[in-house]
Amino acid sequence: MEGNGPLKRRFVVDSMLGKVAKWLRILGYDTRCEPLDESKLIEYSEAGWLLLTRRQSWCGRRSVVCLHQNAPMDQIRELHGRVHLEMEAGGFLRRCIRCNELLEGIERRDVIGQVPDYTFETVTEFNRCPTCGRIYWEGSHRARITERLKRLLGEEPPETLAEAE
Ligand SMILES: [Zn+2]
Repeated sequence: MEGNGPLKRRFVVDSMLGKVAKWLRILGYDTRCEPLDESKLIEYSEAGWLLLTRRQSWCGRRSVVCLHQNAPMDQIRELHGRVHLEMEAGGFLRRCIRCNELLEGIERRDVIGQVPDYTFETVTEFNRCPTCGRIYWEGSHRARITERLKRLLGEEPPETLAEAE
């Protein structure tokens, strides 16, 4: 899948930052979310992962980005200021936001009964998460998410940031 192209950076997000993990997956980044401790820090750091945490005692450690903001969208912006996040790099909306799994294409007939009737009538392409089975399709939410991230990542003047759902 093309989603693996330029997005080489991988993130491990401290479990308290679950919404940040969700947004990184939307952008296409391979993003794990789990409780972190000292041994995991060393393990992931040596394997080339970038760790995100709010743990101030880890600030300055190798491979660690400490976030200070409270709201998820502010944390994404803070992260973007430290590590440039790419939006149009091929991975956008190609991962399951729950499992981090890359989505697979699915035949339209196979989603009958699994998506709302209106969606089935109006959408032609569907994807499914191979792990949790959740079905994804392009809808109005895609445009909304795109606009929001564009504002956030600086392609348009910043506005007051709202809390992520
Ligand atoms: Zn999934």
